[in-house]
Amino acid sequence: MSLVLDTGIRVMNGNKGKLIVLTGPSGVGKGTLLQSLLDRHPQLYFSISATTRSPRMGEVDGKNYYFVDTAQFQNMIANHELLEWAEYAGNFYGTPRKPVEEKISQGRWVILEIEVSGARQIAQTFPEALRIFILPPSVEILEQRIRNRALDAEAAIEKRLLQAETEIIAAQEFDVQIINDDFTETLEKIEAQIFAPVIVG
Ligand code: 5GP
Repeated sequence: MSLVLDTGIRVMNGNKGKLIVLTGPSGVGKGTLLQSLLDRHPQLYFSISATTRSPRMGEVDGKNYYFVDTAQFQNMIANHELLEWAEYAGNFYGTPRKPVEEKISQGRWVILEIEVSGARQIAQTFPEALRIFILPPSVEILEQRIRNRALDAEAAIEKRLLQAETEIIAAQEFDVQIINDDFTETLEKIEAQIFAPVIVG
């Protein structure tokens, strides 16, 4: 038996791959943390979600999201094409099933960046998934961050803040909770969880 660092390339658990879920309230910094994780670990496969939200400036269809209309989204639900889905602040978001299942069966490590109710659904279908909850240092700081990034109109900001309060309460349901106070420290803590040493032999 030996202790090795699990790198995500050399898969230790047969050829099963792994599912990692990054969740937490809107504005907590999940997107930026995810981008750094993907830059630093290109072996991780990011699952691109479908959404009915309109693209923000600079967002690209097929890269950030698949931007679809409500009828298309409803079709995806009806055809069981989504692994999970949720309505969030007036729009629908969902994880396309096929790429995730394919990559995991190929032994890849797949990462989802999704809101809390979707992360709960994943716990039902993939109980072995690693589910990481990112918390803000305080609700006041979260509000500041959402307002400062100025991505959304006031009505959307209000919806996101309301939603954030209920989401934060759910934190203890998840495997790991990390407070995003210092970006680099938070990133390292996430990496420590994902690339934890495993026992093989
Ligand atoms: P945004 O509109 O800011 O891009 O995303 C709003 C929220 O939806 C964020 O918390 C984001 O993590 C979440 N989200 C993005 N994609 C998905 C998805 O496929 N499923 C679920 N349940 N939430 C998602």
